Amino acid sequence: MRIVDSHVHFYSEEVSANPVTWGTEHRELWWTSCVAPVGRRSVQGWANAAVMLRDMDRAGIEKCVLLGWYWENQETCDLQNAWFNDLIKAHPDRLLAFATVQPRAKQAALDSLERALDAGFCGIGELFPQAQEFAYDDPYFSRVMQIAADRGTPVNLHITDPLIPTKAVTRATPLENFVRLAKDFPGAKLILAHWGGGLPFYELNPHLREILRNVSYDCAASPLLYDRRVFRQVIDLVGADRVLYGSDYPLLLYPREQQAPEFKRFLNDLATAGLTTEEQEKVLGKNLLRLLGCEY
Ligand SMILES: [Zn+2]
Repeated sequence: MRIVDSHVHFYSEEVSANPVTWGTEHRELWWTSCVAPVGRRSVQGWANAAVMLRDMDRAGIEKCVLLGWYWENQETCDLQNAWFNDLIKAHPDRLLAFATVQPRAKQAALDSLERALDAGFCGIGELFPQAQEFAYDDPYFSRVMQIAADRGTPVNLHITDPLIPTKAVTRATPLENFVRLAKDFPGAKLILAHWGGGLPFYELNPHLREILRNVSYDCAASPLLYDRRVFRQVIDLVGADRVLYGSDYPLLLYPREQQAPEFKRFLNDLATAGLTTEEQEKVLGKNLLRLLGCEY
């Protein structure tokens, strides 16, 4: 079965060597407090390209989508897009990349995004407006969404479940923001991360289901949030065509048992979550490849 991970993060070795120094120097205080929280162990793991490719091989993963972080500064977005550009050129058969963008940088953000998409990036995100401090109706964010809709390029957005208590640093992401976005950009392919923070339940309402018809949900970081019955339950709510496997590697998804990131354990959870072979095939790769306009 082909496995394509839709939600992987990657940082250069300069970053992982000393995240606090790097984050402080680049004025990425939000990111720094997420990956290196003061006073407790972080669930963030680190992997260079060789380790990531080795872990992919060990788990039978064909390809990974590298997602950008929701940086506060466009300069950091540009830096990360440059790392990703090198990686997808070096490993075109294994790695895909989404471009990251800070709409507060206005025209410079749009120019950078268009350059990345022209260079072969196949999506946008992961974006997190509350962390990047731009409004959902920011005109430049609307332009980003319009570029995505015009090019048929998916956009991955972070969602924090409003009710699950977490020690992680986060900000509220009211679900109505995403409903409005889907309504305002009916042609855009939205990927809502982390199971859409509970939004799939609302698809039982026919009106909302119609608005959300172009939304897909990824399962990134799922073991930190929900038990594995979530796979069966969400597929029963929205169907098997709009659920995407994504891990959030190199996050430690089972922090009590894991010292280092890896893909296998979560894939085992997915394999034993009560899905049919056809459903697994869709979730593990077919749905994402369809969204990206690739052959299966
Ligand atoms: Zn993520």
